[in-house]
Amino acid sequence: MSEQYEVIVIGAGPAGYVAAIRCAQLGFNVACIDDYLDERGKPSPGGTCLNVGCIPSKALLESSHHYQQAGKQFAEHGIGVGQLALDLATMQRRKQKVVRDLTGGIHALFKANQVAFYAGRGTLKQHNQVEVIDHESNTTTLQAEHIILASGSRPVELPFAPFDDKQVVDSTGALAFDAVPQRLGIIGAGVIGLELGSVWQRLGSEVVVLEARDTFLPDADSAIAKQANKLLGQQGLDIRLGSKVKNVNPTKNSVKVSYSNEQDEQTLTFDKLIVAVGRRPNSESLCADDLDLRIDERGFVQVDDHYRTNLEKVYAVGDLIPGPMLAHKGMEEGMAVAERIAGQFAEVDYDNIPFVIYTHPEIAWTGRTEQQLKDAGIDYTAGQFPFSANGRARAAGETDGLIKVLAEARTDRVLGVHMIGPQASELIGQAVIARAFATSAEDLALTMFAHPTLSETFHEAALDVADRAIHRAPPRKKQH
Ligand code: FAD
Ligand code: NAD
Repeated sequence: MSEQYEVIVIGAGPAGYVAAIRCAQLGFNVACIDDYLDERGKPSPGGTCLNVGCIPSKALLESSHHYQQAGKQFAEHGIGVGQLALDLATMQRRKQKVVRDLTGGIHALFKANQVAFYAGRGTLKQHNQVEVIDHESNTTTLQAEHIILASGSRPVELPFAPFDDKQVVDSTGALAFDAVPQRLGIIGAGVIGLELGSVWQRLGSEVVVLEARDTFLPDADSAIAKQANKLLGQQGLDIRLGSKVKNVNPTKNSVKVSYSNEQDEQTLTFDKLIVAVGRRPNSESLCADDLDLRIDERGFVQVDDHYRTNLEKVYAVGDLIPGPMLAHKGMEEGMAVAERIAGQFAEVDYDNIPFVIYTHPEIAWTGRTEQQLKDAGIDYTAGQFPFSANGRARAAGETDGLIKVLAEARTDRVLGVHMIGPQASELIGQAVIARAFATSAEDLALTMFAHPTLSETFHEAALDVADRAIHRAPPRKKQH
C-alpha cells in the first residue's frame, strides 16, 4: 500500500523546504523527505544551510567577531574588559542552539502548512513513486503526480587528503572543533576557506590557506578582491596563491602538508587541516538505475527553464542543478518550481544574484564585474566611494573598503555593484532591488538616503558615476 500525495519533495534544505511550503500554500497535498540527523540523532530539516552551513558558520563568525572586538577594538572606544577569556564550549553550544531553534522552526512550518515530513532516505523508484527507508530501516512507498528532487550537495574530497574527522576535516568538522587549533591549514581560498579561516584566526589559530589558483577570488571584481586579499592578510590569514598541494600525511596529533608554488616547495605541519575545495551534487543513488535521470559529467541533474528533468513530472532545484551553490538561489528555485507546477508564471533572475562572503569586512556583489564588461565589449561608466569618507563608518571605526557602481554608458542602467566594507551583506540588498527595477545610476543619485548611514556610501558611489560625489576630492574621470 502506498501513501498518496500530489507533490513529493526529496530533501528539506532551503530549496526543498521552500518548494514544499510553497506547494502547500498553493493547495497541494505535500510530503517532504529528509535523511539528516543532528548530533543527538534527531531528524533536523533545513539541509546543509541550517545544520552545517550558512547558519552555524554565521553564528561562529558573529561570536568570533565579538571576541576579536573585545580583545582589539573595545580599548579605542574607552572600554576595558580586563582579562579576555574564551569559552569555546559555550560558543559552540550557542551555535547549536541557534541551529536547533531554526530547524525546529522548519518542523513548525511544515506542521502549520500540513506538509507531511518523513525522516529517512528517499529514492525515486518510478517517475511518480518514491521509496522512503527511515532510520529504523522501515520502508514506506509514497506516490505523487509531481516529484521535486532537492537533495543538495556535499563537500568535495581530495583523493590524496581523505577526510578522517580528526586531523583532516571538511566544513562540517571545521564548525565543530572543541579546541582552537594552534596551527590550522586550509586547502582552498574560496568562500568556506575564508569564512572558517576567519573564525579560527580570530579565536587564535595561526592560519595558512593554500590556494591552487594564482588569482584571489576570481569571480569578484578585481579591485574588491585585491582589497580583500590585503585586508585579510593584515588580519593574519596567510593566503598562499598558486599553491599546488601534493601530499597530505596525517599523524596521530598533526598533519603534514606538502605543496609547491612559484616561490616555494614546502612541507608544513598543522594541528588540523580543513579541505574546502568546493561541493558536489548529491545525485548518486537518488533514483533507481533503470530510470535514467539525465545527469551531467559533474553530477548535476539537467533541467530546463521550468526545472523539469528528462523524467515526466520530475523536477530538480537547488545545489543539485547547475548554478551557484547558494541557499537563496535554491529558495528562489523552490518557489519558482512550485508555482510552475501550479501552472503559474515564475522565473528566477540569475543575472541579479547577490554573492556575499561574510569575512570582516564583508564582501558582496551583484551583476557584472569591470572585467566581464570589458571582455563583453560593453561601454560602461564606473563610480566608487570609500567607506573612509563616510561619517557613519568613521563613527563605527569601520573605515576599510569601498563600493563601486558600474553603469552602462549608453543607458546609465546599473550593470554591477561591488563592495567590501561594513554590513556589505545588508547593503547589497539595496543594489539587488535597484537592479531588479532596471534602475539607472542617476535614479540612485536622485534618491535620498538617511544620514549618517553606511548606505550613503552606495549613494555617493552612484553620484560618482556622473562625477558628482560630494564628500571626496574630485580625482579622475573614467569614460570607458
Ligand atoms: P541542502 O541544503 O544540501 O539540503 C539537501 C537535504 O537533502 C539535506 O538535508 C540532505 O541530507 C537531504 N538529502 C539528500 N539526499 C537525500 C535523499 N535521498 N533522501 C532524503 N534526504 C536527502 N549559502 C548561502 O547562500 N549563504 C551562506 O552564507 C552559506 N554558507 C555556507 C557555509 C557552509 C559551511 C556551507 C557548507 C555551505 C554554505 N552555503 C551558503 C551553501 C548552502 O548551504 C547551500 O547552497 C544550500 O544549503 C543548498 O540548498 P539545497 O536545498 O539545494 O540543499
Ligand atoms: P569554492 O568554490 O568557493 O572555493 C574552493 C576553492 O578551492 C577555489 O578557490 C579553488 O580554486 C580551490 N581549490 C580547488 N581545488 C584545490 C586544490 N586541490 N588545492 C588548492 N585549492 C584548490 O568552494 P567552497 O569554499 O568549498 O564552498 C562550497 C560552496 O558553498 C560554494 O559554491 C559556495 O557558494 C557555498 N558557500 C557559500 C557561502 C556564502 O554564500 N557566504 C559560504 C560558504 C559556502
